[in-house]
Parts: sequence; C-alpha cells; structure tokens
Amino acid sequence: MNRRVLLRIAAGAPFLGLAGLALPGDALASQPKAAARKAVPRVIVIDPGHGGKDPGAIGAKGLLEKDVTLDIGRELGRLLGRAKGIQVRLTRDSDEFLTLRERVRIGRAAKADLFISIHADSAPNRNARGLSAYTLSETASDEFAQALAKQENLADGLGVDIQHQDADVAAILLDLSARRVKTASLAAKQAIIRAAGRELTLLENPMRSANFAVLKAPDVPSVLVETGFLSNPKDEAQLRDPARRKRIAAILAREVTGLVATAPFA
Ligand code: ZN
Repeated sequence: MNRRVLLRIAAGAPFLGLAGLALPGDALASQPKAAARKAVPRVIVIDPGHGGKDPGAIGAKGLLEKDVTLDIGRELGRLLGRAKGIQVRLTRDSDEFLTLRERVRIGRAAKADLFISIHADSAPNRNARGLSAYTLSETASDEFAQALAKQENLADGLGVDIQHQDADVAAILLDLSARRVKTASLAAKQAIIRAAGRELTLLENPMRSANFAVLKAPDVPSVLVETGFLSNPKDEAQLRDPARRKRIAAILAREVTGLVATAPFA
C-alpha cells in the first residue's frame, strides 16, 4: 500500500477523506499542511518502451520504436529532473532489453507516484495516426486496443500474466490504495490527452484502456502513452524529427509537473 495512504490511516484520517481521494476539495481536508507536503518529492518513473533485442515497431522507412521511446523518455526525464520537488528514474537509459516484469518492479521499488510508459507502436490500419494514452483495464476499450496490449505483452517473450503470478495482487486490488491508484491513473491519462490535444494530432478516441502487463503495478498509478504510430508515414516522419520528439517530451513534462502537485497525487 502507498505509504502516504497508510500514514493517513494511522493518523486517523476520516474514512470519507480516503475514499474520496479523487475529489480535489475533499483531498485538501485530509492533506498535511502545504509546508510538510513540499518536503516529500514526487517520484516519476519513465519507461521507454522496448530496447535491445526488442526493437518494437519498425516504420516503413526503418525508424525503430525503441529509439523513439528512449529519446523522448530521456528528454522527459531531463525536463522533469529540473522541476522542483520531482525525482526522476528511467527504467532504461540505454539500448537495453528489459522484461515487462522488470519495468513494473522498478516502478514499485521506486515507490513511484506516477509510472509513464512511452511507446510508438504500429496499428493495423495504416491511416491511424496521432497520440493516445492507455490505462489498465481487463476489458479493452476496443479490439485494436486489446490486440495492441497482447502484442506488447508478448514483446519480451515472456507472455506472463503478472496478475496470475502474484497471489497478493488480487487482494491488493481490492483495497483503498488500489482505488486511489486507479483514480490517479485515469487523471494522468485525461490530463495528458487534454494537454497533447491542444498542440498535437490525437488518435480518434485517444483515451483508451487495455490489459497492458507493464501497467499492472497495484500500487503505482500508471499510464502508457502512444506518441504516434510508426505504421503511419506521417507519424513516422514526425517521430523521426528530434524537434518533434522534444516537443512531445515538453508537453508531457509540463503536464506531469502540474499533475503530481494536485489531487489525487498530492
Ligand atoms: Zn511499443
């Protein structure tokens, strides 16, 4: 369970205050004073998708997803690292292969306030383009979302359903911490899409959900950002452009900085 939630329980925070963590006004009532809150840094774990022997999607002109995700992830890390009160950790900072379990483990070990997985996959429809974001759901928002999650989950050759590996997970999902994690994940997805929508092309129905193994930490709010589709020539051309990657990272950094300073994160 999230340490702050435990502390609030220990301090006798009213039950409604805990259950209502999604509500900004209510959350204020159960928060410590602003001065004390500032002392606790927010931990953001950035997860550049794929890497090493797993290139991820490959564009028609040869752009590799693993290179795009690492570049955007590094830039996002650099920008967030400059923000006050934020600590950043990257699951990988080189062309390295990591299993999905390892990525989840890093997020949990860091006690991350937010885990952001960065991708640029391919879509079955070559016309599909634009940014979208995913949160975890057993039920995918549509068939494509389901197929994408399945493809991602098999990418490291594991094909393991973490939830079935860890008996504790099912129990943890039922507690208040899990409810807060879900609310925070949804808030992150909405904020990212809102912000990106002001400046970038979005996929149709950009707020999506699917059963991504990398989003399965029961105690870490997690979101997966598809920065675009390498199966689309326009997206591939844009994602090849370093300035475009920087812009995507800047939008994410700005939004995440604001996000983690407010409820349900703070
Ligand atoms: Zn991917």
